[in-house]
Amino acid sequence: MLPANLSIQPRLVRFLRLRQLSDAVAWTFRVLLPIMKGFNHLGEANRVPLELKATINLPKTAFPMKANLPQNEPKILARWEQTGIYERIRQARKGSPTYILHDGPPYTSGPIHLGTALNKCLKDFIVKSKTMAGFDAPYVPGWDCHGLPIEIKVDKELGGKKLQMRPTDVRAECRKYAQKFLDLQRQQFKRIGVFGRFDRPYATMNPQYESVVLSTFFSFYENGFVYKGLRAVYWCMHDETALAEAEVEYEDHTSPTVWVKYALLDDPAKIDPALAGKKVSTIIWTTTPWTLPASMAVAFHPDEDYVALEAGGEVYIVASKLAGDVAEKCKLEDPRELAHFPGRKMERLNFQHPFLDRKILGVLADYVTMDTGTGVVHTAPSHGAEDFATGVKYGLDATSHVDEKGILRDGLPEYNGQYVFKANPIIIELLRKHGALLHSDKLVHSYPHCWRCHNPVIFRATEQWFISMETPMPGGAGGRGSEKDTLRTRTLEEIKHVKWDPSWGEERLSNMIATRPDWCISRQRVWGVPIAVFLCESCGKPLNDSAINRKVVELFARSGADSWFTTEPDTIVEEGMKCPHCAGTKFEKETDIFDVWLESGASYLALIADEPAYPWPSDLYLEGGDQYRGWFQSSLLCAMGTHATPPYKGVVTPGWTLDEKGQALSKSRGNDVDPVDIASRLGGEVVRLWVASVDFREDVVGSEALMHRIAENYRKIRNTFRYVLGNLGDFNPDADAVPFESMEALDQYMMRQTCAFAADVRSSYDEFAFHKIYHRLNHFCIVDLSAFYFDILKDRLYISAPKSPGRRSAQTAIWRIGETLVRLLAPIMSFTSEEVWDYLPKTAGRAESVHLALFPTAAEILGDAKTIAGATPGAGSADDKTGEDWTTLRIVRDEVLKVLEDARNNKLIGTGLEAQVTVAAADPVYSVLLRHASQLRYLFIISAVNLVQAAGNGTGGVRVEVKKADGLKCERCWNYSTHVGEDKKYPTVCERCSAVLEELEAS
Ligand SMILES: [Zn+2]
Ligand SMILES: [Zn+2]
Ligand SMILES: [Zn+2]
Repeated sequence: MLPANLSIQPRLVRFLRLRQLSDAVAWTFRVLLPIMKGFNHLGEANRVPLELKATINLPKTAFPMKANLPQNEPKILARWEQTGIYERIRQARKGSPTYILHDGPPYTSGPIHLGTALNKCLKDFIVKSKTMAGFDAPYVPGWDCHGLPIEIKVDKELGGKKLQMRPTDVRAECRKYAQKFLDLQRQQFKRIGVFGRFDRPYATMNPQYESVVLSTFFSFYENGFVYKGLRAVYWCMHDETALAEAEVEYEDHTSPTVWVKYALLDDPAKIDPALAGKKVSTIIWTTTPWTLPASMAVAFHPDEDYVALEAGGEVYIVASKLAGDVAEKCKLEDPRELAHFPGRKMERLNFQHPFLDRKILGVLADYVTMDTGTGVVHTAPSHGAEDFATGVKYGLDATSHVDEKGILRDGLPEYNGQYVFKANPIIIELLRKHGALLHSDKLVHSYPHCWRCHNPVIFRATEQWFISMETPMPGGAGGRGSEKDTLRTRTLEEIKHVKWDPSWGEERLSNMIATRPDWCISRQRVWGVPIAVFLCESCGKPLNDSAINRKVVELFARSGADSWFTTEPDTIVEEGMKCPHCAGTKFEKETDIFDVWLESGASYLALIADEPAYPWPSDLYLEGGDQYRGWFQSSLLCAMGTHATPPYKGVVTPGWTLDEKGQALSKSRGNDVDPVDIASRLGGEVVRLWVASVDFREDVVGSEALMHRIAENYRKIRNTFRYVLGNLGDFNPDADAVPFESMEALDQYMMRQTCAFAADVRSSYDEFAFHKIYHRLNHFCIVDLSAFYFDILKDRLYISAPKSPGRRSAQTAIWRIGETLVRLLAPIMSFTSEEVWDYLPKTAGRAESVHLALFPTAAEILGDAKTIAGATPGAGSADDKTGEDWTTLRIVRDEVLKVLEDARNNKLIGTGLEAQVTVAAADPVYSVLLRHASQLRYLFIISAVNLVQAAGNGTGGVRVEVKKADGLKCERCWNYSTHVGEDKKYPTVCERCSAVLEELEAS
């Protein structure tokens, strides 16, 4: 628009070298407000006669430049606590539309870290911004208190003592441990400025919560979703419990691999006439030799091609695709192919177990793959999920002879009593002794490990409680989906109606729900909510009686889940109650507890039980990506089982918190950034600003250096507020505010800029794009305010008569800017906004805390809804025209400042006020400059501007010429003027200042 065609033609009459200004001033805006140095520097200020200095409206405010956040934030926290800010917000928003962000419960086993701080601050930004947008947005923080990690830690502390303790005593110890960290985390979250119902959080170990977990289970149970049965489930031998899919992580593990011969017992001619009379075997391949004692079958793929290879006088049956590899590994010499046949030929043939007196059945299975091994799979129904399913199909024995500690029982003396992995070499030796071992090797592969203790896990068939994914949904509840829907299909349908942010969440969760096995909800531990079901003493079957179920739920609500351990069955099961299966009359208590994911999955159900006015579903869940297999999923399933709809309308997922090299933060790595430590050294506000600065949907970087950069930025924002407050000392909005239409053009322009800024910030809050707010804020404070508007305003604010319309116009503008900024930033900069709020002028009806206020509307920012209805940015052509003018003026200004900078560097001038500038421009720029001619010298912060119309139309650039200003320097305002000395009464000041002094004297 304005190609630079600039030249400097200095016409220096006399070069006056000004003394270098020192930075040693009482307080200074430094780079932001360079002009102020002059007024405050002793040497320079002394040159302004004292009586003149007193007539300058220097900024004055008690708002400190140095924030001292670590010292001052606790004072603000104490005030919030004292005034009950959270409760007062609830009162203020009562009756407004609700917005419920439901908190995901962190685990109570340690202090908070940067990831939890990010999580809680994001939630706080959302809750506070919704609150200030006018919603009733309560926030009830929650904690996940039960579960293995705590029980393990308490086990360690108790040591051998635990064996002598009653379960309720162990639970009391666990409760103490959980409560300790709940209290710590609560205090830490509050320290970084998070608002919420902290005095009454939800905790999964609260009696009321425990009762909801149980009633959630009973909803599933009474609607036929639940079964108890023998299943091969992931089992941690270290923690002695079943694990859910979500509790298993894959890590590298070295396993032995064996190629084992299973001799055919039946007549081989049944497979193919070519095998008649031959000694035939098949070869299996496994990485878990310890499961061979449980081997019940060999599985073949029904449709794949198998080959019979003759070598060394024996015949071996393996998959054709793997025959070459097998022959090589097992050293089959000169193998000769006798016959080919599909795997289905092998069904129900009998083989010999390699070292046990057991017939092994030939079975068919689609999961047999042709990528590794032999294409023949040894099948131990007690030690594999697929094996178990095959076992059910063929009626195989699935009894586990591996106990909860992973010890082999009821076996041969060689391996009996051995830990499974220790049994591997023993069993390999046994195979060799029986001539069944054809080859052995080692393999490093991805193997399931316990996510708590990181030990390798095994599959083990045990009696467990399950929620079946294939159960038909009752009565077509929920309105969506079809009559034939199962828990799985209906859940998949409902996922589509949730807003996933980022959008990949939908596919991720759908894939998990589509493929997940039935939900194993039982655990064999103590610290959790008991599966409070009575079992028939004679047949072992559970009693499912809704009246009894209600009684137990009420008992839990009254006395907590501990009561299950102390209540005798006959106090709940009435006399005369008969087992519906065997008519037995004696009942015992189930001792398993629930999977903790069922507990946390019921959290919103527990919350609405406590706050019945809260809507179903909630508006938002926000947690890390690991919760797709955890809390997002279990919450969804619990909601489907009770309400047949998801518990959330939207789900947001932040990325991971990493260091600058992309590594996870950890104390042991030494790259840890502790948010509580940052709060104590730099301020909780710095932690909050850091959270706002990152694009949380990606992985985010946290580091000490970054926190310091954020703290530096914080100071810039703080100085913006300081400028505002410093210039409002004598401003009473009720009496002094200038209506928009009477404001100076520059002030009107900045009001519109502020409206545009507010609109951008509001829409960024709506899309949870806090990093956009952070960057927009920095730009607005630094570029629009400090370097442009505030810089220009200084002359008007300081030099004008205090009550002059121009100064009042400026004060009105910066007051409104301050009000706008403080409210828009309150959700993020909760501490500083509250601090600034106290310093801003009080007006009638103004809320006591910024957190009780609403976001400003455009009409509020501009000052009057009636007269300004059409004055919002882009609303009218007149505004657009003004906007264009200012865009042009700012571009010309930037060019002038560049030329002045060059002139300064060439020592042609000292300060800009020593300069006058000639600007030559063609239309349309010339016309714009002409329209604002009287303001140009103030815009450029120089003593005079001469405007020259250049030839051409729209093509020529702008020529800027700097020379020394004419006249003398005014002792009061430092502008140069040819009129200095004309006023005999004030001979050292310019005509503008003498008028001000005249006015001051008269008043
Ligand atoms: Zn474990
Ligand atoms: Zn019975
Ligand atoms: Zn002056």
